Amino acid sequence: MKRRAPCRVTVKHALVCAILLIMPVRSAAPSHAQRQAPASRLTGNPQVRAALDWFGHNHSWINDEQARLTEIPAPPYQEQQRAAAVKELMAEAGLAVQVDEMGNVIGELRGADEKEIILVSAHLDTVFPAGTNVKVRHEGNRMMAPGISDNGTGLAALLALARAMQFARLKTQRTILFAGNVGEEGEGNLRGMRELIEAYRSKLKAVVVLDGSGIEHVTTKALASRRLEAKVTGPGGHSWSDFGMPNPINALVRGSVRFINTKVPASPRTSFNIGQIEGGTSVNSVPHEARIKVDIRSESEEELTRLESALRDCIAAGVRDEMEPPRDRSKGSLEWKVELLGSRPGGELSPDSPLLAALRAADEYVGNESRLERSSTDANIPLSLGIDAISIGAGGSGGGSHSLQEWYEPAGREAGLKRALLTVLGISGMVEENSR
Ligand SMILES: [Zn+2]
Repeated sequence: MKRRAPCRVTVKHALVCAILLIMPVRSAAPSHAQRQAPASRLTGNPQVRAALDWFGHNHSWINDEQARLTEIPAPPYQEQQRAAAVKELMAEAGLAVQVDEMGNVIGELRGADEKEIILVSAHLDTVFPAGTNVKVRHEGNRMMAPGISDNGTGLAALLALARAMQFARLKTQRTILFAGNVGEEGEGNLRGMRELIEAYRSKLKAVVVLDGSGIEHVTTKALASRRLEAKVTGPGGHSWSDFGMPNPINALVRGSVRFINTKVPASPRTSFNIGQIEGGTSVNSVPHEARIKVDIRSESEEELTRLESALRDCIAAGVRDEMEPPRDRSKGSLEWKVELLGSRPGGELSPDSPLLAALRAADEYVGNESRLERSSTDANIPLSLGIDAISIGAGGSGGGSHSLQEWYEPAGREAGLKRALLTVLGISGMVEENSR
């Protein structure tokens, strides 16, 4: 992944000044003005500078905690052990910690205002099943292990932010909730984030999701997706003596071929994938059951709905095709159903949101330029409800996400951590030391 080198100090300051001039003035009210504090105002504060410097002095602590957390398995629905470790680290960082019913670890850093909350989150779960070897190997500067980047990096950043703020005794205007949340990946269906939003919705002003590595992008648009299972069942029987009996695999294949031929628009971009196929017991049996799992995604909610109903129509037609002559189909009939396994709603952050302005100002400070992206992340849930949210990488570089070859390299991590911290402080606002 490409990363821009931080620009020289003079250039940086010129850029920050330029941004100051073009940044929208939101309100004359002092508390509001403080909350929108751009990066230069923040970084003029010695406490903020102390927090930013903390990252540079604690590289090895951050690396070690990332490796340690990655080595605690966290398959979907089995995040408890990793959650317990995160809880301990949050408590050490001086946060008031609790674990909610869903299994999310939540650490509170109380601001001057308890009625307004900024949520900073990193998901705990991985895609890897129990029993996967998650031992971290070191190759030069590279750490290698399933989950090391997604989301070892986000979790390490979450805790580093809390530690840096504690070290510098930062007092924010708004209250900050640090959350290690469950259920981001696949079948988890964003249940952790759904619970957090449900619990804090009335007070929530913005959500910053830390997910994976890099600083090149900022996800401001939520990609809507649905996951479906199509299942066909029948009586099942012997391949020779029951020949002619309708076959669920045949029906599903016939329906799948129809579905694959469905046209999808290039814009709004829309995709589908038959990701799993199961069924049957042996080569000489007519199966009694067959299933496929299908993932559909689109920039448009209408296209998703259209594609979901296309899937239903195609499976129904596949079953009809299978029941038709040329053979005697009197030996039983087929049943089918299409079930929704999960759905992620879409949404978009407004281009003039204070959260994006805070991120842009932080980018300027670290000499970065972010690409706006559409993706499927924990930020889908707040964005779909009109709550300002972004998902960002937490610095360094990584690759092989969701594979056993996943890797992470911490070089450049500091810029990611500074960017994340300044974004959070930009949106939470600071209580200046002399005004306390
Ligand atoms: Zn992730």
